[in-house]
Amino acid sequence: MSHRRLDHHLEPLVEDERFALYQSIARYADDELAPQLLGWERSKVLVPDQVIRQLGDMGIFGLPIPEEHGGQGGGLTDLLLAGLALSYQSQSVAITPGAAVSLGANPLYKFGNNSQKQQHLSDLAAGNRMFAFGLSEPGRGSDAANPEVVATRDGEHFILRGEKCWSTNAAWASHIVVHALTDPDGRNGHRSTCFIIPRDREGVHYQEMEGKTVWPLSSTGSIALDGVKADAGDILGDLDGGFEVMITTLNGGRLFIASLALGSLAFALDKTSKYVQERKQFGGPIGRFQRVQDVVLEMEIALERNLTWLIQIGRRYDEGTMEREQASKLKIDCSRVASSLLLDAMEVCGGVAGLDEFGLSRHSADLFVTRVGEGSNRALMTQAVRPLLSDIADQLQ
Ligand SMILES: Cc1cc2nc3c(=O)[nH]c(=O)nc-3n(C[C@H](O)[C@H](O)[C@H](O)COP(=O)(O)OP(=O)(O)OC[C@H]3O[C@@H](n4cnc5c(N)ncnc54)[C@H](O)[C@@H]3O)c2cc1C
Repeated sequence: MSHRRLDHHLEPLVEDERFALYQSIARYADDELAPQLLGWERSKVLVPDQVIRQLGDMGIFGLPIPEEHGGQGGGLTDLLLAGLALSYQSQSVAITPGAAVSLGANPLYKFGNNSQKQQHLSDLAAGNRMFAFGLSEPGRGSDAANPEVVATRDGEHFILRGEKCWSTNAAWASHIVVHALTDPDGRNGHRSTCFIIPRDREGVHYQEMEGKTVWPLSSTGSIALDGVKADAGDILGDLDGGFEVMITTLNGGRLFIASLALGSLAFALDKTSKYVQERKQFGGPIGRFQRVQDVVLEMEIALERNLTWLIQIGRRYDEGTMEREQASKLKIDCSRVASSLLLDAMEVCGGVAGLDEFGLSRHSADLFVTRVGEGSNRALMTQAVRPLLSDIADQLQ
């Protein structure tokens, strides 16, 4: 019998085979990851290589990649189930295959040419190596359409200069997909190109970002590009079609971020409902107070509602019928609701919730990332409201 309330809500929503996949990953997270997390976090290490190998052996890096390319032949919905299963214990661990697939292997599968797929896809699907996603820059966060990293033509070649930052999985990446300005005078959204750049190419300098207090086990790198040479064979998708590659990629990535938020919420629900029945004050369990019960019930309602929504949108993504705004709306709501309820959960548990070993503070800190990662919620709201205010669309800010 599972101890996760999440399973109770998930089982009727997905096929038996999918639920079994979720359960096997959840078992791994509970048995192999959970006992080690605190030690890894206190000793400030990144996700150990052995864990990455085990996640690869379970096929997680290839879940939505077709079998002909070495993947499992499933859909993004399967990756969302892996996200829920792993992030219940640790968002840091979950984002490692999550970003590698949704921001690495998936865009390669969708936009790569045959030769690029032959060269990389089966390795990525096996988790033998990863691609990192180089959209954000020190001066270009939400305003990412016109990068400051430039790729200047030099005969048959391009020369890339500038800096990317916040690149998840940079430590393990064999390549970075770099979004660079190629046509400054082009139409809006048609000025940039994505290049698949090997991390060990001359002029590429990777550094792990220091001082990060969220997703502590996840690698987050900055990548300096100092006169890096690229050619037409390195282009992912079309020349000057880089923004399309990036925004299409983020649609799937945002659903994965929503799954992380719900995994954390599910952990908080179980932890809190157990603790408030055990902890006694004023002569009985604190769970007998209605103000404490309210938080437990609000978490339960939010989990059931948003999980149903997540699976529905995941299926629409896989069928190709999801509207772009739906990924944004889902991510906005899951991250806001989960992070706000996490603080309430910590409050009703009391001071103990401030200890790392209790587990809630890890999830609360990581939920911050779900509010800003893959598009800051507040910037995404402008995009999500656009279809509702179409008569004044050109005035929205
Ligand atoms: C742990 C972590 C991992 C990440 N991984 C990756 C990765 O793998 N690859 C990658 O490319 N990036 C990655 N990112 C970067 C992430 O995508 C950016 O943080 C995000 O896009 C927001 O950009 P910014 O942080 O520069 O915020 P800014 O763009 O500086 O925005 C700051 C704030 O200003 C407000 N704001 C900005 N624009 C608007 C607007 N239009 N309307 C209303 N309010 C607005 C919002 O409140 C916003 O939060 C990661 C970030 C983190 C924290």
